[in-house]
Amino acid sequence: MLPGLIDSHVHFDLAAHPAPFSHWDRMPFVRSMTCLHNGLLALRAGITSVRDLGSVDHMVVDYSRQVSEGHLIGPQVIAAGRPITMTGGHCADYGRVADGAEELRLAVREQIAAGARVIKLMATGGISSPGNPGLAQLTVEEMSVAVEEAHKAGLSVAAHAHAPDGIANAIEAGVDTIEHAAFASDRSFEIMKTNGTMLVPTVSALNPIQAGVGIPAATVDKSLRAREIFRESTARAIAAGVRIAAGTDAGTAFNPIGGLLDEMQMYVDGGLTAADALRTATVNAGPLVRAPGTGSPEVGVIAIGSRADLLVANGDPRSDLEALRRPAHVIANGRLVDLDWVDKTIGELAGMLE
Ligand SMILES: [Zn+2]
Repeated sequence: MLPGLIDSHVHFDLAAHPAPFSHWDRMPFVRSMTCLHNGLLALRAGITSVRDLGSVDHMVVDYSRQVSEGHLIGPQVIAAGRPITMTGGHCADYGRVADGAEELRLAVREQIAAGARVIKLMATGGISSPGNPGLAQLTVEEMSVAVEEAHKAGLSVAAHAHAPDGIANAIEAGVDTIEHAAFASDRSFEIMKTNGTMLVPTVSALNPIQAGVGIPAATVDKSLRAREIFRESTARAIAAGVRIAAGTDAGTAFNPIGGLLDEMQMYVDGGLTAADALRTATVNAGPLVRAPGTGSPEVGVIAIGSRADLLVANGDPRSDLEALRRPAHVIANGRLVDLDWVDKTIGELAGMLE
């Protein structure tokens, strides 16, 4: 028995379509069923907490509320609401566009008012959107104000950042986690380590990307060029001793919720032991999904008073992570999950969501 797993970077309001953001043109009914489906996929994989790092609106925030109030069965979700990006920045077509320090302050306050429990900022361009992932976007000044507002309310801040300038800006602004870091320099990892900034790689997200399956050509091109560099960068982060929390970016093209084990296996390929890879999805990530405010129970550990998120594995994952595939039992927030019912419901919803 071990603590329930934590995926520190998912998108419950996406359905792993080849052109993932087209999901946001679908009717609200299908989108809300997708959240439900994704929650069940997570539980089936032994994932009992996630951070949802961005959607087109606040649907996932509401899903999270329904789960925490006990109306729905699903994992604990710490949701960011809308990601905050500059004009023309990564995901500007879907995120909360904000320019200048005071507008950043307003954008953060909007997410908090809507019920967000983490704030997502875009510090560089991206791979799944138009633009250059190597270029810095939101400035130190803008992100500093966002961090100030978020921390004041007890929320942590996650920064999407691929390359050295944007990573340095985000860390100088005081963010808590760097997402991706595909093109990071050794210096990037040095400052992450010095500042205690956690890295959430999501390196497995590029594995399923290929041409000819409906993924937009620009994304295919950028992904294929980045894939090896991203793997090598994750291995360098591991070698440098950067603290890692496992995250998948699930919801993106052909990257469904539940692939956390494959991500952890890539950390083992990059140099972590199986036991340390297990820590990236449990103790390391726990503080990221702890409800803001005082007195909330610990997550990612088994201890008196901690959140009752547990799974029963089919062997000892410290010697072989494969023991985590299809856990025998899952307990989410003290409730034994009926995995037969989960399997059946996942199957029944799948047709609607294709
Ligand atoms: Zn993401």
